[in-house]
Amino acid sequence: MEKKDIKSMTYEELEAEMEALSEKKFRAKQCYEWMHIKLARSFSEMTNLSKDFREKCENLFTFTALEAVEVQESKLDGTKKFLFKLSDGNVVESVWMKYKHGNSVCISSQVGCRMGCRFCASTLDGLERNLLPSEMLDQIYAITRLTGERVSNVVVMGTGEPMDNYDNLLRFIRLLTDENGLHISQRNVTVSTCGIVPKMYELAEEKLQITLALSLHATTDEKRRKLMPIANRYSIEELMGACGNYFEKTGRRITFEYSLVGGVNDTDEDADKLSALARPLGCHVNLIPVNPIKERDFVQSEGARIAAFKNKLEKNKINVTIRREMGRDIDGACGQLRRRHMQR
Ligand code: SAH
Repeated sequence: MEKKDIKSMTYEELEAEMEALSEKKFRAKQCYEWMHIKLARSFSEMTNLSKDFREKCENLFTFTALEAVEVQESKLDGTKKFLFKLSDGNVVESVWMKYKHGNSVCISSQVGCRMGCRFCASTLDGLERNLLPSEMLDQIYAITRLTGERVSNVVVMGTGEPMDNYDNLLRFIRLLTDENGLHISQRNVTVSTCGIVPKMYELAEEKLQITLALSLHATTDEKRRKLMPIANRYSIEELMGACGNYFEKTGRRITFEYSLVGGVNDTDEDADKLSALARPLGCHVNLIPVNPIKERDFVQSEGARIAAFKNKLEKNKINVTIRREMGRDIDGACGQLRRRHMQR
C-alpha cells in the first residue's frame, strides 16, 4: 500500500484517518499540532505520543521535511535565499524577506515550470513535477525553524505556475490559513499567475480573501506574445474579464505585475495603455525592473525611464509601486539559484 502524505491532510481528514486506525480522536489534534504549529521534522519528535503509535505512523505515512542545502544571505538587505532538497532529490528555492511590517516568504509551487516566459530563469529547463501541498507548506515551516522568526506574509511567486498545480495550491492555502495550524491570514497570501483564465474563474468561486496578482508585462497581445507564450492562449481582453470577475466575486483588488524591459514595454504609450487596463478594476500596479538572465538578452530600463513610467501611471491616478530589488547580490531572479546548483 502506498504511504499517505500526512502533512498534506486537512484536520478533518486526519481525524477520519485516526478513526479508521481505531485511534482516539485527539491523536489527530496532537499530530496536527506537532506538524503545523510546533513544526516537527519527524514523528520521532512527537514526544508525547507513544512509541508504538509513532512507529505505526511511520509505516503508514510519509513525512515531508525539507532539508536546506544552501542558504545565501544578502549583505544589502538581509534577504535570505534557501535551496531546499525534496525527498526525491529535486531542489526548490524560496526567499525570505524582512520588511518593516513583517517577514515575507516567497515560495515555489513547482519544480521547474512549463510556461516558457522569455525573461524567466525558472522555465529554461521546463517542468519537472508539481509540488505537493506539504512541500509548499514546509518551505515556510523550514524557514520559520531556521530563522526563528514568525512569517506573516506568503507570496506564491517563486518557481512554477501555481494555477498549473491548482488542486495542490488550494489545499496548501487551506492548510496554511487553517486556524488549527499556523493560521496565516488569507489577506496576507498572494498568488501570482501568468494568466490561466479558466483557473482564475475557478479560483474566484472559492471566495478566498487572498490577493491575486496577474503577470501582465505588456499592454497589447502582440507585445505580450513576444514575452509570454501563454499570451497565445488567452488574450488581454479575456484576462481583463477574468480579473473583473475575480474582483466582483471576492471584493479583492487585483495586482498587475509589470516587468519593465528596456526598449520593449517601457514607453509612455505603454504606461497610458497600462493605466487604461488598471483603472476600471482599481488595480494596483507593481513595476519590476527586469532582472536580466544570461541566457537572454533582455535589459533593464534605465533608471530615468522607470521613474518616468511610474510618474505617468501616477498622473493617471494609478496606485503604483516599484518592487524593491531584494537580494540583488544573491541570484535575485526566479530560478537562478536552483539553476546554478543544477549546473554544478
Ligand atoms: N508563474 C507565476 C509566478 C512566478 S514569477 C507568474 O507568472 O506570475 C513571479 C513574477 O516574477 C512574475 O510576474 C514573473 O513574470 C516575474 N519574473 C520572472 N522572472 C523575472 C525576471 N528575470 N525579471 C523580472 N521579473 C521576472
